[in-house]
Amino acid sequence: MSKFWSPFVKDLVPYVPGEQPKLAKLVKLNTNENPYGPSPKAIAAMQAELGDNLRLYPDPNSDRLKQAVADYYGVSTAQVFVGNGSDEVLAHAFHGLFQHGRSLLFPDVTYSFYPVYCGLYGIAYEALPLDEQFQIRVEDYARPNGGIIFPNPNAPTGCALGLAAIERLLKANPDTVVLVDEAYIDFGGETAISLVNQYPNLLVSQTLSKSRSLAGLRVGLAVGHPDLIEALERIKNSFNSYPLDRMAIAGAAAAFEDQAYFQQTCQAVIASREALVAAMSDLGFEVLPSAANFVFARHPQRDAAELAAALREHGVIVRHFKQQRIAQFLRITIGAPEQNQALLDALGQIL
Ligand SMILES: *Cc1c(COP(=O)(O)O)cnc(C)c1O
Repeated sequence: MSKFWSPFVKDLVPYVPGEQPKLAKLVKLNTNENPYGPSPKAIAAMQAELGDNLRLYPDPNSDRLKQAVADYYGVSTAQVFVGNGSDEVLAHAFHGLFQHGRSLLFPDVTYSFYPVYCGLYGIAYEALPLDEQFQIRVEDYARPNGGIIFPNPNAPTGCALGLAAIERLLKANPDTVVLVDEAYIDFGGETAISLVNQYPNLLVSQTLSKSRSLAGLRVGLAVGHPDLIEALERIKNSFNSYPLDRMAIAGAAAAFEDQAYFQQTCQAVIASREALVAAMSDLGFEVLPSAANFVFARHPQRDAAELAAALREHGVIVRHFKQQRIAQFLRITIGAPEQNQALLDALGQIL
Protein backbone atom coordinates (compact mmCIF):
# COMPACT_ATOMS: atom_id res chain seq x y z
CA MET A 1 0.00 0.00 0.00
CA SER A 2 1.31 3.45 -0.87
CA LYS A 3 -0.09 6.96 -0.97
CA PHE A 4 0.65 6.93 -4.69
CA TRP A 5 -1.85 4.16 -5.36
CA SER A 6 -5.20 5.09 -6.81
CA PRO A 7 -8.30 3.88 -4.91
CA PHE A 8 -8.86 1.55 -7.88
CA VAL A 9 -5.51 -0.20 -7.38
CA LYS A 10 -6.09 -0.47 -3.62
CA ASP A 11 -9.27 -2.43 -4.25
CA LEU A 12 -7.90 -4.80 -6.91
CA VAL A 13 -7.79 -8.52 -6.02
CA PRO A 14 -5.20 -9.99 -8.43
CA TYR A 15 -5.03 -13.56 -9.70
CA VAL A 16 -2.42 -15.84 -8.11
CA PRO A 17 -0.82 -18.16 -10.68
CA GLY A 18 0.50 -21.60 -9.77
CA GLU A 19 4.05 -21.71 -8.47
CA GLN A 20 6.96 -21.79 -10.96
CA PRO A 21 9.61 -23.31 -8.68
CA LYS A 22 13.26 -22.33 -9.11
CA LEU A 23 14.32 -25.88 -8.16
CA ALA A 24 14.50 -27.88 -11.39
CA LYS A 25 14.38 -31.25 -9.66
CA LEU A 26 10.73 -31.08 -8.59
CA VAL A 27 8.14 -33.18 -10.44
CA LYS A 28 6.01 -30.25 -11.53
CA LEU A 29 2.35 -31.24 -11.91
CA ASN A 30 0.76 -27.97 -10.77
CA THR A 31 0.14 -25.68 -13.77
CA ASN A 32 -1.09 -27.96 -16.57
CA GLU A 33 1.94 -27.54 -18.78
CA ASN A 34 2.54 -30.16 -21.45
CA PRO A 35 5.22 -32.72 -20.54
CA TYR A 36 6.38 -32.88 -24.15
CA GLY A 37 8.27 -30.04 -25.82
CA PRO A 38 6.79 -27.86 -28.56
CA SER A 39 6.83 -29.03 -32.19
CA PRO A 40 10.43 -29.11 -33.51
CA LYS A 41 9.09 -27.16 -36.50
CA ALA A 42 7.86 -24.43 -34.16
CA ILE A 43 11.28 -24.22 -32.53
CA ALA A 44 12.99 -24.04 -35.93
CA ALA A 45 10.58 -21.27 -37.04
CA MET A 46 11.37 -19.26 -33.90
CA GLN A 47 15.11 -19.73 -34.35
CA ALA A 48 14.80 -18.44 -37.92
CA GLU A 49 13.31 -15.20 -36.53
CA LEU A 50 16.25 -14.60 -34.21
CA GLY A 51 18.36 -12.12 -36.12
CA ASP A 52 18.60 -8.61 -37.53
CA ASN A 53 14.88 -8.53 -38.23
CA LEU A 54 14.25 -8.05 -34.52
CA ARG A 55 15.04 -4.34 -35.04
CA LEU A 56 11.72 -4.18 -36.90
CA TYR A 57 8.31 -4.25 -35.22
CA PRO A 58 6.34 -7.43 -35.78
CA ASP A 59 3.20 -7.54 -37.95
CA PRO A 60 0.61 -5.81 -35.71
CA ASN A 61 -2.12 -8.05 -37.14
CA SER A 62 -0.20 -11.34 -36.87
CA ASP A 63 -1.63 -12.25 -40.30
CA ARG A 64 0.56 -15.32 -40.73
CA LEU A 65 -0.71 -16.81 -37.48
CA LYS A 66 -4.35 -15.86 -38.15
CA GLN A 67 -4.08 -17.59 -41.52
CA ALA A 68 -2.69 -20.77 -39.94
CA VAL A 69 -5.54 -20.83 -37.38
CA ALA A 70 -8.15 -20.04 -40.05
CA ASP A 71 -6.83 -22.85 -42.27
CA TYR A 72 -6.80 -25.31 -39.38
CA TYR A 73 -10.43 -24.61 -38.42
CA GLY A 74 -11.85 -23.80 -41.86
CA VAL A 75 -12.89 -20.24 -40.96
CA SER A 76 -11.90 -16.85 -42.39
CA THR A 77 -9.13 -14.70 -40.90
CA ALA A 78 -11.78 -12.08 -40.06
CA GLN A 79 -13.15 -14.64 -37.58
CA VAL A 80 -9.81 -15.00 -35.77
CA PHE A 81 -8.25 -12.89 -33.01
CA VAL A 82 -4.84 -13.58 -31.47
CA GLY A 83 -3.28 -12.25 -28.30
CA ASN A 84 -0.52 -12.55 -25.74
CA GLY A 85 -1.82 -15.72 -24.11
CA SER A 86 -5.49 -16.51 -23.93
CA ASP A 87 -5.58 -14.65 -20.61
CA GLU A 88 -5.09 -11.45 -22.60
CA VAL A 89 -7.72 -12.51 -25.13
CA LEU A 90 -10.14 -13.16 -22.26
CA ALA A 91 -9.33 -9.79 -20.68
CA HIS A 92 -10.20 -7.98 -23.92
CA ALA A 93 -13.43 -9.98 -24.18
CA PHE A 94 -14.44 -9.05 -20.64
CA HIS A 95 -13.64 -5.41 -21.41
CA GLY A 96 -15.27 -5.26 -24.80
CA LEU A 97 -18.14 -7.75 -24.72
CA PHE A 98 -19.28 -8.19 -21.11
CA GLN A 99 -19.41 -4.63 -19.81
CA HIS A 100 -23.13 -4.07 -20.18
CA GLY A 101 -24.31 -3.40 -16.63
CA ARG A 102 -25.99 -6.76 -16.12
CA SER A 103 -24.38 -9.70 -14.34
CA LEU A 104 -22.00 -12.02 -16.11
CA LEU A 105 -22.78 -15.69 -15.40
CA PHE A 106 -20.21 -18.41 -14.77
CA PRO A 107 -20.00 -21.60 -12.67
CA ASP A 108 -19.18 -21.45 -8.93
CA VAL A 109 -16.26 -23.81 -9.52
CA THR A 110 -14.31 -22.47 -12.49
CA TYR A 111 -11.20 -20.66 -13.70
CA SER A 112 -10.33 -18.29 -10.88
CA PHE A 113 -9.26 -15.53 -13.27
CA TYR A 114 -12.89 -14.75 -14.22
CA PRO A 115 -13.81 -12.93 -10.99
CA VAL A 116 -10.46 -11.12 -11.18
CA TYR A 117 -11.31 -9.69 -14.61
CA CYS A 118 -14.74 -8.74 -13.28
CA GLY A 119 -12.96 -6.76 -10.56
CA LEU A 120 -10.58 -5.16 -13.04
CA TYR A 121 -13.33 -4.03 -15.43
CA GLY A 122 -16.13 -3.38 -12.91
CA ILE A 123 -18.37 -6.20 -14.13
CA ALA A 124 -21.01 -7.64 -11.78
CA TYR A 125 -21.23 -11.42 -11.79
CA GLU A 126 -23.23 -14.35 -10.48
CA ALA A 127 -21.54 -17.68 -9.85
CA LEU A 128 -24.05 -20.47 -10.55
CA PRO A 129 -23.46 -23.75 -8.64
CA LEU A 130 -22.41 -26.84 -10.57
CA ASP A 131 -24.59 -29.87 -9.79
CA GLU A 132 -23.53 -32.61 -7.35
CA GLN A 133 -21.49 -34.34 -10.07
CA PHE A 134 -19.68 -31.02 -10.71
CA GLN A 135 -21.41 -30.63 -14.08
CA ILE A 136 -22.74 -27.38 -15.55
CA ARG A 137 -26.57 -27.22 -15.44
CA VAL A 138 -27.39 -25.47 -18.68
CA GLU A 139 -30.97 -24.64 -17.63
CA ASP A 140 -29.65 -22.37 -14.85
CA TYR A 141 -28.19 -20.03 -17.48
CA ALA A 142 -31.57 -19.21 -19.03
CA ARG A 143 -31.95 -15.97 -17.09
CA PRO A 144 -31.24 -12.30 -17.80
CA ASN A 145 -27.47 -11.76 -17.99
CA GLY A 146 -24.71 -9.55 -19.38
CA GLY A 147 -22.86 -12.54 -20.85
CA ILE A 148 -21.86 -16.10 -20.05
CA ILE A 149 -18.40 -17.63 -19.76
CA PHE A 150 -17.19 -21.10 -18.82
CA PRO A 151 -14.23 -23.28 -19.67
CA ASN A 152 -14.91 -26.43 -21.67
CA PRO A 153 -13.63 -28.78 -20.33
CA ASN A 154 -14.17 -26.90 -17.07
CA ALA A 155 -11.22 -25.93 -14.90
CA PRO A 156 -10.26 -27.20 -12.41
CA THR A 157 -12.71 -30.13 -12.66
CA GLY A 158 -11.75 -31.37 -16.16
CA CYS A 159 -15.42 -32.18 -16.90
CA ALA A 160 -16.53 -31.56 -20.51
CA LEU A 161 -19.87 -30.21 -21.75
CA GLY A 162 -21.25 -31.61 -25.03
CA LEU A 163 -22.01 -29.52 -28.09
CA ALA A 164 -25.75 -30.17 -27.84
CA ALA A 165 -25.80 -28.57 -24.37
CA ILE A 166 -23.76 -25.62 -25.64
CA GLU A 167 -26.25 -25.12 -28.46
CA ARG A 168 -29.14 -25.08 -25.97
CA LEU A 169 -27.26 -22.41 -24.03
CA LEU A 170 -26.69 -20.33 -27.18
CA LYS A 171 -30.34 -20.59 -28.21
CA ALA A 172 -31.52 -19.52 -24.75
CA ASN A 173 -29.22 -16.46 -24.79
CA PRO A 174 -29.30 -14.92 -28.28
CA ASP A 175 -28.82 -11.37 -26.99
CA THR A 176 -25.62 -11.80 -25.01
CA VAL A 177 -22.17 -13.18 -25.74
CA VAL A 178 -21.42 -16.75 -24.72
CA LEU A 179 -17.67 -17.26 -24.38
CA VAL A 180 -16.46 -20.86 -24.34
CA ASP A 181 -12.91 -20.99 -22.97
CA GLU A 182 -11.42 -24.07 -24.66
CA ALA A 183 -8.01 -24.03 -22.99
CA TYR A 184 -8.14 -27.85 -22.70
CA ILE A 185 -10.38 -28.83 -25.61
CA ASP A 186 -7.75 -30.81 -27.53
CA PHE A 187 -7.46 -33.43 -24.77
CA GLY A 188 -10.90 -34.93 -25.32
CA GLY A 189 -13.62 -32.30 -25.73
CA GLU A 190 -15.45 -31.27 -28.88
CA THR A 191 -14.72 -27.72 -30.05
CA ALA A 192 -17.61 -25.26 -30.43
CA ILE A 193 -15.79 -23.53 -33.30
CA SER A 194 -18.03 -25.60 -35.61
CA LEU A 195 -20.95 -23.47 -34.34
CA VAL A 196 -19.55 -19.96 -34.89
CA ASN A 197 -21.12 -19.53 -38.34
CA GLN A 198 -24.57 -20.30 -36.91
CA TYR A 199 -24.37 -18.28 -33.68
CA PRO A 200 -23.15 -14.66 -33.94
CA ASN A 201 -23.08 -14.47 -30.11
CA LEU A 202 -20.56 -17.32 -29.72
CA LEU A 203 -16.91 -16.60 -29.03
CA VAL A 204 -14.49 -19.50 -28.54
CA SER A 205 -11.07 -18.92 -26.98
CA GLN A 206 -8.12 -21.28 -27.05
CA THR A 207 -4.49 -21.25 -25.98
CA LEU A 208 -1.24 -22.66 -27.32
CA SER A 209 -0.01 -23.06 -23.73
CA LYS A 210 -1.42 -26.52 -23.11
CA SER A 211 -2.04 -28.80 -26.10
CA ARG A 212 0.67 -27.11 -28.21
CA SER A 213 3.25 -26.98 -25.42
CA LEU A 214 3.98 -23.26 -25.77
CA ALA A 215 3.13 -21.86 -22.34
CA GLY A 216 6.44 -19.98 -22.37
CA LEU A 217 5.66 -18.23 -25.66
CA ARG A 218 2.34 -16.66 -24.56
CA VAL A 219 -0.09 -17.08 -27.45
CA GLY A 220 -3.86 -17.37 -27.28
CA LEU A 221 -6.66 -16.93 -29.79
CA ALA A 222 -10.38 -16.48 -30.22
CA VAL A 223 -12.72 -17.49 -33.04
CA GLY A 224 -16.16 -15.97 -33.58
CA HIS A 225 -18.29 -13.68 -35.72
CA PRO A 226 -16.26 -10.86 -37.37
CA ASP A 227 -18.22 -8.29 -35.32
CA LEU A 228 -17.05 -9.89 -32.07
CA ILE A 229 -13.49 -10.10 -33.39
CA GLU A 230 -13.62 -6.43 -34.38
CA ALA A 231 -14.52 -5.48 -30.80
CA LEU A 232 -11.43 -7.35 -29.58
CA GLU A 233 -9.27 -5.66 -32.24
CA ARG A 234 -10.54 -2.24 -31.17
CA ILE A 235 -9.52 -2.91 -27.58
CA LYS A 236 -6.19 -4.44 -28.58
CA ASN A 237 -5.36 -1.46 -30.79
CA SER A 238 -6.23 0.90 -27.94
CA PHE A 239 -3.92 -0.95 -25.54
CA ASN A 240 -0.91 -2.58 -27.27
CA SER A 241 -0.58 -2.78 -31.06
CA TYR A 242 2.05 -5.54 -30.88
CA PRO A 243 0.97 -8.16 -28.34
CA LEU A 244 2.73 -10.92 -30.30
CA ASP A 245 6.42 -10.61 -31.04
CA ARG A 246 8.15 -11.99 -34.14
CA MET A 247 9.10 -15.28 -32.48
CA ALA A 248 5.60 -15.81 -31.16
CA ILE A 249 3.93 -15.25 -34.54
CA ALA A 250 6.33 -17.60 -36.36
CA GLY A 251 6.40 -20.29 -33.65
CA ALA A 252 2.65 -20.35 -33.10
CA ALA A 253 1.89 -20.52 -36.84
CA ALA A 254 4.36 -23.39 -37.29
CA ALA A 255 2.84 -25.20 -34.29
CA PHE A 256 -0.61 -25.00 -35.90
CA GLU A 257 0.79 -26.28 -39.18
CA ASP A 258 2.49 -29.31 -37.59
CA GLN A 259 -0.62 -31.42 -37.10
CA ALA A 260 1.20 -34.76 -36.91
CA TYR A 261 3.28 -33.75 -33.88
CA PHE A 262 0.25 -32.17 -32.23
CA GLN A 263 -1.89 -35.31 -32.64
CA GLN A 264 0.88 -37.57 -31.41
CA THR A 265 1.58 -35.59 -28.21
CA CYS A 266 -2.13 -35.09 -27.40
CA GLN A 267 -2.72 -38.84 -27.78
CA ALA A 268 0.25 -39.59 -25.50
CA VAL A 269 -1.15 -37.26 -22.81
CA ILE A 270 -4.62 -38.80 -23.12
CA ALA A 271 -3.21 -42.35 -22.80
CA SER A 272 -1.22 -41.30 -19.71
CA ARG A 273 -4.34 -39.72 -18.22
CA GLU A 274 -6.34 -42.93 -18.57
CA ALA A 275 -3.52 -44.92 -16.93
CA LEU A 276 -3.22 -42.38 -14.10
CA VAL A 277 -6.97 -42.35 -13.45
CA ALA A 278 -6.96 -46.15 -13.14
CA ALA A 279 -3.93 -46.19 -10.82
CA MET A 280 -5.29 -43.40 -8.60
CA SER A 281 -8.66 -45.14 -8.36
CA ASP A 282 -6.79 -48.24 -7.17
CA LEU A 283 -5.26 -46.09 -4.42
CA GLY A 284 -8.76 -45.15 -3.27
CA PHE A 285 -9.10 -41.76 -4.97
CA GLU A 286 -12.36 -40.54 -6.39
CA VAL A 287 -11.39 -39.00 -9.75
CA LEU A 288 -13.80 -36.79 -11.72
CA PRO A 289 -14.17 -37.79 -15.39
CA SER A 290 -11.50 -35.73 -17.16
CA ALA A 291 -11.34 -34.57 -20.77
CA ALA A 292 -8.32 -32.36 -19.97
CA ASN A 293 -4.58 -32.74 -19.36
CA PHE A 294 -5.14 -32.92 -15.61
CA VAL A 295 -7.25 -34.87 -13.15
CA PHE A 296 -9.27 -33.54 -10.23
CA ALA A 297 -9.40 -36.03 -7.41
CA ARG A 298 -10.13 -36.48 -3.71
CA HIS A 299 -9.29 -39.18 -1.24
CA PRO A 300 -12.17 -39.99 1.12
CA GLN A 301 -9.85 -40.53 4.11
CA ARG A 302 -7.18 -37.88 3.53
CA ASP A 303 -7.18 -34.13 3.82
CA ALA A 304 -6.24 -32.62 0.45
CA ALA A 305 -4.07 -29.80 1.82
CA GLU A 306 -2.10 -32.30 3.91
CA LEU A 307 -1.73 -34.60 0.91
CA ALA A 308 -0.42 -31.71 -1.21
CA ALA A 309 2.10 -30.82 1.51
CA ALA A 310 3.21 -34.45 1.85
CA LEU A 311 3.61 -34.77 -1.93
CA ARG A 312 5.77 -31.67 -1.91
CA GLU A 313 8.06 -33.30 0.65
CA HIS A 314 8.39 -36.16 -1.82
CA GLY A 315 9.36 -33.66 -4.53
CA VAL A 316 6.01 -33.61 -6.36
CA ILE A 317 4.00 -30.40 -6.66
CA VAL A 318 0.29 -30.40 -7.44
CA ARG A 319 -2.37 -27.67 -7.17
CA HIS A 320 -4.69 -27.29 -4.20
CA PHE A 321 -7.44 -24.66 -4.08
CA LYS A 322 -8.74 -23.31 -0.77
CA GLN A 323 -12.23 -22.55 -2.11
CA GLN A 324 -14.58 -24.38 0.26
CA ARG A 325 -16.47 -26.57 -2.20
CA ILE A 326 -13.28 -28.02 -3.70
CA ALA A 327 -10.96 -27.83 -0.69
CA GLN A 328 -10.74 -31.63 -0.48
CA PHE A 329 -9.62 -32.01 -4.10
CA LEU A 330 -6.20 -31.95 -5.74
CA ARG A 331 -5.68 -30.88 -9.33
CA ILE A 332 -2.90 -32.94 -10.83
CA THR A 333 -1.41 -32.25 -14.26
CA ILE A 334 -0.73 -35.26 -16.50
CA GLY A 335 3.05 -35.49 -16.76
CA ALA A 336 5.39 -37.70 -18.75
CA PRO A 337 5.05 -41.40 -17.83
CA GLU A 338 8.03 -41.26 -15.43
CA GLN A 339 6.59 -38.17 -13.69
CA ASN A 340 3.23 -39.86 -13.27
CA GLN A 341 5.01 -42.88 -11.84
CA ALA A 342 6.91 -40.64 -9.39
CA LEU A 343 3.54 -39.21 -8.30
CA LEU A 344 2.05 -42.70 -7.82
CA ASP A 345 5.13 -43.91 -5.91
CA ALA A 346 4.93 -40.89 -3.61
CA LEU A 347 1.17 -41.38 -3.08
CA GLY A 348 1.74 -45.06 -2.36
CA GLN A 349 4.24 -44.17 0.38
CA ILE A 350 2.11 -41.39 1.87
CA LEU A 351 -1.08 -43.46 1.96
C1 LIG B 1 -4.42 -22.05 -18.83
C2 LIG B 1 -5.76 -21.43 -18.98
C3 LIG B 1 -5.94 -20.23 -19.66
C4 LIG B 1 -4.80 -19.32 -20.01
O1 LIG B 1 -3.97 -19.71 -20.94
P1 LIG B 1 -2.79 -18.76 -21.44
O2 LIG B 1 -2.96 -18.80 -22.90
O3 LIG B 1 -1.54 -19.44 -20.96
O4 LIG B 1 -2.97 -17.39 -20.88
C5 LIG B 1 -7.22 -19.77 -19.89
N1 LIG B 1 -8.28 -20.44 -19.42
C6 LIG B 1 -8.15 -21.57 -18.72
C7 LIG B 1 -9.37 -22.24 -18.22
C8 LIG B 1 -6.89 -22.08 -18.47
O5 LIG B 1 -6.75 -23.17 -17.72
